Amino acid sequence: MAVYGILLPLPFNDVFDYTSDEPLAPGQIVEVSFGREILVGAVWKIGQSADIDAQKIKPVRQIVNLPKLTPEMMDFINKTAAYNMAPRGLVLKMALGHKSNQLPRQKVALYGLKIKNENLDGVRISETRQAVFDFLGGGFEAEKDDIIAATGASGNVINAMIKSGFLYKREVLINEEAEEQKVNLNKTALLTEEQQQAAEILMRKVGNGFSATLLDGVTGSGKTEVYFEAIAEALGQGKQVLVLVPEISLTSQWLSRFERRFGVTPFIWHSEVGVREKAKTWKAVALNKAKVVVGARSALFLPFAGLGIIVVDESHDHSFKQESLVTYQGRDMAVLRAHLEKIPIILSTATPDLETIVNVEEGKYDCVRLTKRYARAVLPEIKIIDLKKDKPQKGAWGVSFLAPTLVGELEKNLKRSEQSMLFLNRRGYAPLLICRDCGYRIQCPHCTAWLAEHRMTGELICHHCGFKMFTPKRCPDCGSEDGLTACGPGVERIAEEVRNRFPDARTAILSSDITTNYKQISEVIRRTADKEIDILIGTQILAKGHNFPDLTLVGVIDADLGLMGTDLRSSEQTYQLLAQVSGRAGRGDKKGVVYLQTLYPDNPVLQAVIEHNRQKFIDIEKNSRRLLKMPPYGKLAALIISSTNQQAAEAAAYYLGKCAPHTELIEALGPAPAPMSLLRGRYRYRLLLKTARNVNIQEVLKKWLSMVKIKSNVRVDVDINPYSFM
Ligand code: ADP
Ligand code: ZN
Ligand code: ZN
Repeated sequence: MAVYGILLPLPFNDVFDYTSDEPLAPGQIVEVSFGREILVGAVWKIGQSADIDAQKIKPVRQIVNLPKLTPEMMDFINKTAAYNMAPRGLVLKMALGHKSNQLPRQKVALYGLKIKNENLDGVRISETRQAVFDFLGGGFEAEKDDIIAATGASGNVINAMIKSGFLYKREVLINEEAEEQKVNLNKTALLTEEQQQAAEILMRKVGNGFSATLLDGVTGSGKTEVYFEAIAEALGQGKQVLVLVPEISLTSQWLSRFERRFGVTPFIWHSEVGVREKAKTWKAVALNKAKVVVGARSALFLPFAGLGIIVVDESHDHSFKQESLVTYQGRDMAVLRAHLEKIPIILSTATPDLETIVNVEEGKYDCVRLTKRYARAVLPEIKIIDLKKDKPQKGAWGVSFLAPTLVGELEKNLKRSEQSMLFLNRRGYAPLLICRDCGYRIQCPHCTAWLAEHRMTGELICHHCGFKMFTPKRCPDCGSEDGLTACGPGVERIAEEVRNRFPDARTAILSSDITTNYKQISEVIRRTADKEIDILIGTQILAKGHNFPDLTLVGVIDADLGLMGTDLRSSEQTYQLLAQVSGRAGRGDKKGVVYLQTLYPDNPVLQAVIEHNRQKFIDIEKNSRRLLKMPPYGKLAALIISSTNQQAAEAAAYYLGKCAPHTELIEALGPAPAPMSLLRGRYRYRLLLKTARNVNIQEVLKKWLSMVKIKSNVRVDVDINPYSFM
């Protein structure tokens, strides 16, 4: 009997010892008891780790009938944990698919006949019982629900038949297995010369070890068509393919393009996929039956048996950064995975982030460019509306947010029967309610944040923790009955103005709180693509990869939103968002026009956007980051100290600040109360660690954190290369 170290899906870095009579191999998935729970974990180490009496070590309960994790996968889990300073157990938890892999062990009860039908001759029996006998005749077994549906017998009848010895019941493991995906590799699109050249470079990378390539092409240049060729190459070599996309672009548009090209539906992996479906996919991926998986960032942790290529679509997108449980940047971890699997990875985007650009400049990543839009489509003209001169005019419905120029253009576009899109990155009706009589603003009870008004549901909602309440009729402070006033616009309010100005126009809102699931989002996108919508109003969901050939006018309600942010990436993100939204216009035969409403028409970021001059923006951004030694010119990590007890959080933060490392290459900032000093009922403090590029920041952090004993009611979250500074 040997001892094995089992990694469990718990917030621990260390393995736990268990014994087994049967020899176990690393990566094998096993079931063990842990305290009162039964958990599924993976064999990580052969031999004992803890210094305890071998007699006291508990045995493994059973070996789970699932494929072993590959050595590459185990390495990936170890390295992801180490890089992000997260417990290995939590990374394993992601890799096990959030417990879904336990489902194959789920039992179902089957019922069958104990007595042969013929032997019943002469026995008096009711009609329903006879129906059950007939249904289950010939050794047939069925689930209770199926018997009920087929015979009309009640559950009680079936139970009674078991008692009287007519039926038996037996439990079996359900073991749903997907069939092997059969793909069609026939080419459907004829590539342009530029596309063909790009495709060939990418295809040559397949089967030739690790490489990372930026597929850098303007919006509408056919990046998808091009990386499809690399995918076809990998599939032709019998390899598996993983395509990571921002969660929201997993709508039918991308999927139907894929289906047209390859003749199969890819396996899909994201938060809305059901548990049973996930279990099936997990297994199909591990058994090399699933050839193509398209998913949100979490799909990166699937146990591929023979991965051949990874594509990260819209690789600049911030939704690849996960901020809960294990904090990681999915794009970067995808590069790590490709490296460990010795396969190519393609990062596809029209607006690469600075980190990726610098990696290309330094020769770490290759780059393939697409400079032209497909066919006759040309890039849209981008114009600025100076809100100080071109002031929105009040209407009968109230305050207005659309400048007269934009209103005029919308009207003309409607007359031409062309489609328009209005973009405002703010959900709800208004970001805040203020009392005109006493100045009171309604705040979230759990966060440092105002509650946003959502008029369609009559609620006030916190956009940080999800707290909800019905919109009060009176001011909660002074009791005034007509004091509460909406302050500023959200998409619902823009839609209200549009409907008042253009009562005949067909409008729709695309916003994560209104179109809450894939089905609803896909439906709005389909209606827009089929020209059933004249004016589409929405949040950043609109910016992502959709293709509407008849969309010729885009209006950005507030181009300044985000520009005034002081975060490291706020101007980059604004640039990307504006360039992406603008890229939605004029993708067909007709030329597109984009209007940016702003109070700061001279802002250099906006200037770069209207000139389609990405290099200008990149140069500005590089200079400021270089000056501040910020990523990619330095390394950054954030420590977030939080507790429901304010003093405890403050004391821990203060103590960490006191023993923070300071050298020529290492600088620590803080502690300071976080901008979101109260979030979900926890008091929060932040520290920032900034180091030179050649410093191992994880080692510095490890040493620093080991110097401080953190009380159990305080949590310290490490965020390597943070995107959020709240
Ligand atoms: P990107 O991903 O660069 O924004 P897409 O791949 O979505 O661009 O292409 C934009 C549009 O042009 C899509 O409707 C696509 O089907 C079409 N397209 C691009 N290249 C081709 C091609 N070679 N043949 C046919 N259609 C193409
Ligand atoms: Zn009031
Ligand atoms: Zn809140």
